[in-house]
Amino acid sequence: MISQNLNRVKDTLRPGTQLVAVSKYHPIEALQEAYDAGQRIFGESHVQELQQKYPQMPSDVEWHFIGHLQTNKVKYIAPYISLIHSVDTVKLLLEIDRQGEKAGRCIPCLLQMHIAQEETKYGFSPDELMEILSQGDIQKLKNVQIAGLMCMATNTDDEELIRNEFRMAHEMFDNIKRTFFSAAPGFCQLSMGMSGDYLIAQEEGSTLVRVGSMIFGNRVY
Ligand SMILES: *Cc1c(COP(=O)(O)O)cnc(C)c1O
Repeated sequence: MISQNLNRVKDTLRPGTQLVAVSKYHPIEALQEAYDAGQRIFGESHVQELQQKYPQMPSDVEWHFIGHLQTNKVKYIAPYISLIHSVDTVKLLLEIDRQGEKAGRCIPCLLQMHIAQEETKYGFSPDELMEILSQGDIQKLKNVQIAGLMCMATNTDDEELIRNEFRMAHEMFDNIKRTFFSAAPGFCQLSMGMSGDYLIAQEEGSTLVRVGSMIFGNRVY
């Protein structure tokens, strides 16, 4: 069941788009089934849950953190996390840098950009991002690597609105890359698209899609 869902999603991916299987709230057996079907990148959004799952899965799994991350929890995941998608404050980025240094590694991070119309979504506004990057301090951090942007579209059936938001995100990505990261090939990831909108996100230039319920079914909250 999970392996069939996984293959169905993979069949719709464009070359160059990577799939993050969002396994939050699903038991380890479900992750193992996806792993056995070839999936290696898993996305989790709660530190405690990730901490429980991480030691139970094979060591070649790449763990991505996709949820709101509290600064006081960075230390738990810093030694092993492959990518943090959801950096939404400078304070959080500074703490990831500090914990990266302690763990002796450089931690890849995406800056979460707020594009949706909803008030509740975390993230920097495009203006805030331009301002922070113009100051230049965060690009100098030694133990974080700013690898791109992450965003979420408005939760709506209005495909035109979703497409416009993703298109704007892609334009911002290109603009930021050109302006601040022209000498940094590592700034190359645009994480956008979930079960309901990843096909649109892909058409609008996403490089990482975060798909949960289409693979694992509905979550039990
Ligand atoms: C839960 C979650 C997803 C996956 O959502 P689905 O609709 O189940 O595919 C993607 N991104 C983030 C940030 C999430 O929290």
